[in-house]
Order: sequence, then structure tokens, then C-alpha cells
Amino acid sequence: MHVENSLSRTYIELDERYGARNYKPLDLVVDHAKGVWLWDADGKRYLDCISAYSAVNQGHCHPRIEAALVEQASKVTLTSRAMRNTQMGPFLEKLTGLCGFDLALPMNTGVEAVETAIKLARRWGYEVKGIPDNAAEIIVFTNNFHGRTTSIISASSEPAYRKQFGPFTPGFVIVPYGDADALERAISPNTCAILIEPIQGEGGVIVPPEGYLKRAWAMCKEHNVLFIADEIQTGFGRTGDLFACDYDSIKPDILVVGKALAGGYYPVSAALANEPLMRLFTPGDHGSTFGGNPLGSAVAIAALDVLVEENLTARARYAGAKLMQGLRAVSSPLVRDIRGRGLLIGIQLTVPAKKLSQALLDRGVAAKDTHDHVLRIAPPLVIDDDAIDFLLEKYREALTAL
Ligand SMILES: *Cc1c(COP(=O)(O)O)cnc(C)c1O
Repeated sequence: MHVENSLSRTYIELDERYGARNYKPLDLVVDHAKGVWLWDADGKRYLDCISAYSAVNQGHCHPRIEAALVEQASKVTLTSRAMRNTQMGPFLEKLTGLCGFDLALPMNTGVEAVETAIKLARRWGYEVKGIPDNAAEIIVFTNNFHGRTTSIISASSEPAYRKQFGPFTPGFVIVPYGDADALERAISPNTCAILIEPIQGEGGVIVPPEGYLKRAWAMCKEHNVLFIADEIQTGFGRTGDLFACDYDSIKPDILVVGKALAGGYYPVSAALANEPLMRLFTPGDHGSTFGGNPLGSAVAIAALDVLVEENLTARARYAGAKLMQGLRAVSSPLVRDIRGRGLLIGIQLTVPAKKLSQALLDRGVAAKDTHDHVLRIAPPLVIDDDAIDFLLEKYREALTAL
């Protein structure tokens, strides 16, 4: 590693000295960024293929989102929901219009929006479906990632996320991802919802079999079960459709969004649903001090405008196809599989993905392993042809060096 005796090293030492060690990041200390490029504390440039886990789909430091942030920051930043503000309504109007739902409930982080969806589905289970008190079940899937709260890790099949964090929240049933028959068998009269990622991001960019989501959705309709799509990572153009569910032409009952909703400037998330369902929340049931705050709302309006006006979904489809073709043209005994959709790509390796991640980092590309043997490639959607060529050249070099 060539970060010894550098400014970067001093920042890494500060992190290690004063921070809890709940992450193992790359040895890359970002000082500033623009579009798809990052510059470290020593001035070296990197292509960002992580995009803050798809929160920066619009590219780093987009001038239009920045302007919205600065303007709103000098007016009012936080009111709490004890009163109203001029930004939340226009934000929710834009969000619901774009996503095709009647109503939205704004939160901050992704996991809070997932929690919101779970509470709404349970409420519906008792009040509308007539499930006996405290018996509601939500079906989740092996290898899922929905966040890190105590309840959400109760739905996880990943030992590392759960170890010594029990006791867990009951009411989750885990079935194998991609197996429609197993899902059908798991549905009981007490099932209020399934909670699913249309493509599993953290799980290693797992694309389910063709037709699976559509079957799962149809089963939900047949058995009076809500379909909750967690599109926190796959949403807002990442997969070459506005939402990954669009690929299968299905509309979830509850859509959960976050990450790119505010272009990386602010944590903004939301759960969306139609009229009768979302109206099951009444004053006092649920909320958040920062949810729907004017600063986050103003930023999210600009982030959604950028997404639409710059046609980022179409760009993801085009750039994703070009990148996928380029990656597949590189033959290497270390590569077992390359999969994904749009600009959410996973490279399954025969060696630990950390090795390729480090070899790429040495050559100016930031990409991270997920689930040991998978390297995820998910650059901002604004990536151009030159940057794709740069990435492919470094990818070829890195594989050869290994
Ligand atoms: C990142 C992510 C979350 C959690 O979002 P946070 O903002 O980290 O709480 C939930 N679901 C999916 C699919 C994600 O990728």
C-alpha cells in the first residue's frame, strides 16, 4: 500500500484512533469529488464505482443540487413536523408523481423507510386483513439487506449482521430468494406482506430468475398479501429502469426509496403507497423529527429534477450495456460470472474480491467487494464513454496483475 507517509495516512490513523471500527473501508481518503471522479487527500484521482452505495446516482457535487441546498440553508433548515414548511408539499407532489403513488411518508435513512413499510403492512394486516393481534408475518428472503436496526436484522439471514444482537423481533419468515414455490408454501393466513429487493445489491448483485418477481407479485394478489419493494439501492434509474420493478411491469403496494432520492447531499427516504393503505397511519402513529424537513425536501426536489431532466435512467441503460459488454469481453480464469442490470453490476470471482478491489484502487478505480467473492461496479449514472474506457483498461490491467 502506497499510503504510508502521506496525508491520507494521517486521516486513516485519526479514524482508527477515534472511531468505532464497525466498517473496514478502502484506504481511500476522499478530499473532494466531481461527477464520477474522486480526489484523495494527496491529490490522486480515482473513478468512483461505488457511488456511496448508489446514493450519488446524479454524480458528486451536482451544481444544481448544491444550489438548492445552499439556497434553502439560508432560509430555514428544520421545523419538525410540529408545523408545516414550504418545501415538503412540493417535494411529496414531485415524488409521488414520479413514482406513481397517491401518497408518501418522508423519513431520513433507508432503514427508517423500511421500518415505516413494516409498520404500515402490519397495521393493514390487523385492521384490514383481520390477522389476529400480534400474529402478523412478513416474508423476507435469504441474503436480503434492508438495513441495520434491531428489527431489520431480525429479518436477516446473515450471521455477521445478527451475532450477539438478539433477542430479535419476531414475525419474519425467511424463504430462499428466487424460489417461487418456496414462497408460495410460506404464505399463511397470517402473512401480511412480503418484503423484497427486486435485485439484491448487498447480497452480491443477485438478479432473480426471469419471471420470478411477476409470479411473486401475482401470488401476493391471489393470497391478499402486500408486496413491499425495497428499491433503496435499485431505484431512481440505477438498473436502467426508473425502478427495477418496472422491468417486470409490476407495481408494488408499498415502495421504499432512499439513497439517490437526495443525490448524496442529505439523507432523505420515503415509503410510498396508495390512498386507502397509507391512510391507515393517523396522527401520532409514526414520525421523525427530521423527516420531511425543508432542507432535505429542497435538496430532494433538485435531485429528482436532475434525474428526470438529464435522462439518467436512459443513460444508465446505455452505459450499463456498454460497460457490461466491455467487462464480458475481458477473459480471465479469475472471473466466474458477470451479472446485473443497468449500472448495477456484480463480478463473481474465484478469488476474494478484496484482491481485485485493491488492484483497482492502486490503478485509480474505487470499487468494493460485497459478500467475499463479488466485486460490485456501480458508478454514478452520469458516467461517460471515456470514463467507461478508463475503467475497462484498469480492469484488464488489474486482472492481469493478479
Ligand atoms: C442501503 C440499503 C438500505 C439501508 O439504507 P440506510 O440509508 O443505510 O439505512 C436498505 N435497503 C437496501 C436495499 C439498501 O441497499
